Amino acid sequence: MFPISDSRLLPISEKVVAGERLSFNEGLLLYDSHDLPALGAMANHVRERLHGSKTYYNINLHINPTNSCFASCRFCAFGRKAFDENSYILSPADIVERAHRQMPPGCTEIHLVGGLDPRLKIDYYCEYIRALKEAFPEVHIKTLTPVEVAYIARTSKLTIGAVIDRLIEAGMGSMPGGGAEIFDPEIREQICEHKCGAEEWFATHREIHLRGYKSNCTMLQGHLEVPRHRIDHMVRLRDHQDEYGGFQCFIPLSFHPANTEFSHLPGPSGFLELQTMAVSRLMLDNIPHIKAYWIMLGIKQAQLAQWFGANDMDGTVVHEEIYHDAGAATPEGMTVEELCRVIRDCGREPVLRNTVYEELEPAGKD
Ligand code: SF4
Repeated sequence: MFPISDSRLLPISEKVVAGERLSFNEGLLLYDSHDLPALGAMANHVRERLHGSKTYYNINLHINPTNSCFASCRFCAFGRKAFDENSYILSPADIVERAHRQMPPGCTEIHLVGGLDPRLKIDYYCEYIRALKEAFPEVHIKTLTPVEVAYIARTSKLTIGAVIDRLIEAGMGSMPGGGAEIFDPEIREQICEHKCGAEEWFATHREIHLRGYKSNCTMLQGHLEVPRHRIDHMVRLRDHQDEYGGFQCFIPLSFHPANTEFSHLPGPSGFLELQTMAVSRLMLDNIPHIKAYWIMLGIKQAQLAQWFGANDMDGTVVHEEIYHDAGAATPEGMTVEELCRVIRDCGREPVLRNTVYEELEPAGKD
């Protein structure tokens, strides 16, 4: 059924066809194999079983409320120390003004993530959420990674659950999945020792899922990690999903070395990016969507990824700082027409969605 040249993959291919769960060691074997066409074909089989030829996109706007951050993660080119002349904090009014200025037609989501600044307490976050909901009542506010939520809990002297309750009350609609990086504590210690560990990251998702809200999850690859760390990461996500079921989408993120403390590293190869896309589709059998985030992968690789397990490209974005500070060469945003052309050019059917993956009719369609 699949074009397999590495015979070690044959038993795995039988499990894929039967829809059976792959083990940790089978995940390692997928990474050990260089039979990328076989991996792609197996992942594509799962992708098409779940989503046919649909590739989802959305109309969204990214805003980073602050780049001020105490954490100094070694892979990060975005965070600035509070005293740095290029650090900024947008007021809630600034955020609303930027949204008015940059919001694309038909926008259904504002995505807001930023740095960790001890001067910003829970009230600041609730204020900008409330201000945005007042100005754009129909727009979904996806904001604050678990790392930010855990930090707000600490600086505001609240439990994680209490922070989430306040954010929901203000109008937060869902949570993005950033800050996961790699869960393994030895790697985490070397790349981002100041941000919360895996336990708090999962505890935050648990609190939001228990309240019936959705979130996404990510993994950062191409720095110090090796395959067993990636598989461990995916298995932890899969275990959480078995129990709480609130992850909508997994997004494998590629480390961009420029302007970081790890600028001497090459970053992930194109081969690894496609391999991880396929491995994640095969391992994460209980997470419905796999996203090829075009800003970070590049448009061409995001197109290829649509045949290696991915079924989502993210959206219009409009203004992106985090990956562009680290040297991303992609545009900062795409129009709906461009996104649809990019999706059609790789032989997939563009389908407009909202944040929680409800399908929408594009404006102007008869
Ligand atoms: S990755 Fe996030 S937490 Fe780490 S330094 Fe950058 S902005 Fe701060």
